[in-house]
Amino acid sequence: MHEDKKEELVKILMKEGITDKKVLNAFLKVDRHLFVPDIIKLHAYSNVALPIGHEQTISQPYTVAFMTQALELNGRNKILEIGTGSGFQAAILVQMGMKVFSIERQFEIHQKTQKLFDSLGIRAALIYGDGTLGWKEAAPYDRIIVTAGGPEVPKRLLKQLSVGGKMVIPVGNRVSQTMQIITKISEKEFSTKEVPNFKFVPLIGKEGWKSE
Ligand code: SAM
Repeated sequence: MHEDKKEELVKILMKEGITDKKVLNAFLKVDRHLFVPDIIKLHAYSNVALPIGHEQTISQPYTVAFMTQALELNGRNKILEIGTGSGFQAAILVQMGMKVFSIERQFEIHQKTQKLFDSLGIRAALIYGDGTLGWKEAAPYDRIIVTAGGPEVPKRLLKQLSVGGKMVIPVGNRVSQTMQIITKISEKEFSTKEVPNFKFVPLIGKEGWKSE
């Protein structure tokens, strides 16, 4: 029923520069309409961010695809996501065969997404808390993806990243951010690529923005 819309969306993602076949394939498999409120389901396969309540959003499909491609996944990577939100990004990563830990700071959103994952049988560890602190218990991670915009890169996250690992994180002000694609070369050495013009809700926490 939604297959045509998914194929249309994948064509748009390809036009916008997404080339990783595994990422594109995951977009054909994961039902985005299950991750948005009923009232806006009609728009689920449009290439736009949508509200999910509590002033939060499900990210634009292009942004999810861009960040997933930038992670350069290989094999079964262990991934930490900061900002579970609707769970769509985590579901894409699980669909691609990754082992996913995801942290959300809003309790209602965390609970709702946990229920959704239980009902859909999506296997990921969803954690309630401040993601700027990371999740030391399961560290180190092969990849870290931050889906809210912070003022700087949280030091604890850099620490919890494996040597050779990659982190993708939007950094800037509360309105617009530059995507930083960071590779951890050694415990003390990092290389960073930057891609401008992203727009995320704020990363709020100890190593993020102060609360609203
Ligand atoms: N990955 C999400 C998705 O697929 O729907 C995108 C969610 S939205 C753009 C960002 C989320 O980050 C919000 O749900 C927000 O509550 C959460 N957030 C903000 N600061 C956080 C923090 N310090 N730790 C964990 N989650 C945080």
